[in-house]
Amino acid sequence: MFIEINNLKKSFGSDSNRVEVLRGVDFSIEKGDICVLLGPSGSGKSTLLNIIGGIDDADAGYISIGGERMADMNEKKLTAYRRKHLGYVFQMYNLIPNLTVRENIEVGAYLSDRPLDVDELLQTLGLYEHRKKLPNQLSGGQQQRTAIGRAIVKNPDILLCDEPTGALDYNTSKDILELIERVNQKYGNTVIMVTHNDAIKDMADIVIRLRDGAVRKSYRNEKKIPARELEW
Ligand code: ADP
Ligand code: MG
Repeated sequence: MFIEINNLKKSFGSDSNRVEVLRGVDFSIEKGDICVLLGPSGSGKSTLLNIIGGIDDADAGYISIGGERMADMNEKKLTAYRRKHLGYVFQMYNLIPNLTVRENIEVGAYLSDRPLDVDELLQTLGLYEHRKKLPNQLSGGQQQRTAIGRAIVKNPDILLCDEPTGALDYNTSKDILELIERVNQKYGNTVIMVTHNDAIKDMADIVIRLRDGAVRKSYRNEKKIPARELEW
């Protein structure tokens, strides 16, 4: 298993006002998988992504990446993991407004030792003809494509996507999810994605459903997940 999550626990707040968000989460993912995280608002999906991304710490339990526990990584190794091996895509694109599409993508290659060819990536993203535009000259879908480009130009082992289509209409969302699938197939990045979009039922290798701080259900290698299972 490439990513193993074992009995992971996380609370926020102080003793009198403590919220137990993750109460022992367990699952594992193989290299190259597309893993979709489902769960109601407030169920800890973003918290879990942040811990996997090394930008927050768990209280108990562990995550191992490629056989190495994150808690055992020294600061230097953890920094290298965040810089080189992780890409992050959010609901908000957060592009730099005065840089072109191409430049926004190039920013993501900063400190990477194996960046992808930017022109080829622009083609894959369907952005080549828009490469000289500024973000405010783009549609929401094109802005999210640019943000995906910025996340994957370093060719990360892991791509974390937190509601990447949350601000987009249904058809544009489908395009974006198909693009993430194409990127996964082309570059082999392991994807962990939070989404509410039912278009994922054709692309997920594993679906993890969180409820009350734990995995309530998971499906493996179900290329076709029953639609009713995607409802809340
Ligand atoms: P989801 O992404 O599933 O909507 P989150 O992981 O964002 O859920 O949040 C889960 C719970 O943890 C929520 O109740 C949220 O208010 C709380 N929470 C998240 N981050 C913090 C934080 N930094 N400090 C305090 N509470 C937090
Ligand atoms: Mg969230």
